[in-house]
Amino acid sequence: MSDVHTKKQRSYNMSMIRSKNTKPEIILRKLLSASGVKGYRINYKLTGKPDIVFPRQKIAIFVDGCFWHMCPKCYIQPKSNPKFWINKIKGNVKRDKKVKELLKSEGWTILRFWEHEVSKNPKKCHKSIINKYSSFST
Ligand SMILES: [Zn+2]
Repeated sequence: MSDVHTKKQRSYNMSMIRSKNTKPEIILRKLLSASGVKGYRINYKLTGKPDIVFPRQKIAIFVDGCFWHMCPKCYIQPKSNPKFWINKIKGNVKRDKKVKELLKSEGWTILRFWEHEVSKNPKKCHKSIINKYSSFST
């Protein structure tokens, strides 16, 4: 029975919740603009509110919060109110799936990154965006 552990976990959960802000998305945008890529939009009105959109190439990029979208690597079930969280987050995951299918059916290419992927290796994520982007603009 270590209270330390619960404390630790609690603060971890809290940090995951707080990181709902769009930081990873900003990292990616900075890398994109630094590499001279143009034509992407933010706040582009599209199903599922992708974080970055290339309207002309029809590429939609999502950066998914590890907590909110149940990342298999990072997600930890909150100890308090577990039912509430399970419902909420499973709802998110379900919606993610629907959004993806809808966008695909409308001819969009979807790139998804986990928040932790962008934080840990932004260059790798950036590279896969560039690869996708280049494949459309030749
Ligand atoms: Zn994660």
